[in-house]
Amino acid sequence: LFGEVPQATPVAVFKLSNDFKDDPNPMKVNLGVGAYRTDEGQPWVLPVVKKVEKLIVADNRLNHEYLPILGLPEFRSSASKIALGEDSPAIQENRVGAVQCLGGTGALKMGAEFLRRWYNGNDNMKTPVYVSAPTWENHNSVFANAGFKDVRPYKYWDAEKRGLDLAGFLGDLETAPKHSIFVLHACAHNPTGTDPTHVEWMQVAEVMERRKLFVFFDSAYQGFASGCLDKDAWAVRYFVTQGFEMFCAQSFSKNFGLYNERVGNLTIVARDADNVRRVLSQMEKIVRVTWSNPPSQGARLVAITLNTAELFAEWKDNVKTMADRVLLMRASLQAKLQALGTPGTWDHITQQIGMFSFTGLNRVYTHTHTHTHTHLLSHHIRCCYCLLSVLLPGDSLYLYVQYQSN
Ligand code: PLP
Repeated sequence: LFGEVPQATPVAVFKLSNDFKDDPNPMKVNLGVGAYRTDEGQPWVLPVVKKVEKLIVADNRLNHEYLPILGLPEFRSSASKIALGEDSPAIQENRVGAVQCLGGTGALKMGAEFLRRWYNGNDNMKTPVYVSAPTWENHNSVFANAGFKDVRPYKYWDAEKRGLDLAGFLGDLETAPKHSIFVLHACAHNPTGTDPTHVEWMQVAEVMERRKLFVFFDSAYQGFASGCLDKDAWAVRYFVTQGFEMFCAQSFSKNFGLYNERVGNLTIVARDADNVRRVLSQMEKIVRVTWSNPPSQGARLVAITLNTAELFAEWKDNVKTMADRVLLMRASLQAKLQALGTPGTWDHITQQIGMFSFTGLNRVYTHTHTHTHTHLLSHHIRCCYCLLSVLLPGDSLYLYVQYQSN
């Protein structure tokens, strides 16, 4: 029955984690997966999460009944509120809706499925979807799998200057067909760690508004870039103030450390309450045939935290602890590279933000400098904040790096 099924290629980042687990080398460090690690190289369960988990277990009123199709109402509203801000004009005007989704990936999927069915008339399969070059590799597949036939890259990264290719980015916005969908990283761009400045975001918004392009934010790292939720949501909030109707996929995997609970939210900003109502009614249909209704544990945990003043404050503190460590690791890595007299300039390590860094290392350089490595497949390697702990013992590296196809 299944004799003709071809073997699919493994998902690179998960394959890498498995290879890493199987490797007996005591010097190994996994720089592939985008998950926070402590000084000991271990996952971190946020103290606030532990606290709220206890509250949930002790609460006799809770049960395991199905949630509503669109998810836990108090989770959806509080999640949208941290993306758009307490005083968001769109929230005040009652033109924001939300769907609880399975992680950030689920929120992107839900948005993509809706857009393919209902955005831009009948021919929407041909509507171009633009994703940054490079981007988190799943962006391409999520939109292609939703039925979009034309998923294209937009210029983003200038390898030469190791920074944003603003002219290229704006140029692609200018020439994109009207109504094209643009996936924008809200902050801490994955994998380059390079975001537009406020002025650059304003330029992007101006072109998108003028050319009638659809804004689909992917916000997977709110709080991780700067340690401040409001700062990291600046771009999303700016677009709302400019009157855009848009989507914002939110992930709570990283900023709550709830990777395996699959907590996500799709925030919808529309023209008015009636539009939101109709959009949500169609989203409900899509959820029903996709996951029917979402799981409760992670969403409860996030909702309780966001809706309780002391817990919210504690969470913000926990997020800052993670963000600060990321910044410290960047500075330490840069200092160590410089102290070792490593050829080249390393300012980009501290200029980039968030979990990821485009080191600019190429294959030959890494060979000679690190003595030993595995899985180095491209000129651009992606690594995360724990690099420093790799550099310390004897200055010999044993890198597990993720292949970046763009
Ligand atoms: N978007 C980006 C840019 C990401 O880096 C990730 C995860 O690495 C996601 C979305 C998906 O997040 P989740 O694990 O919540 O599905």
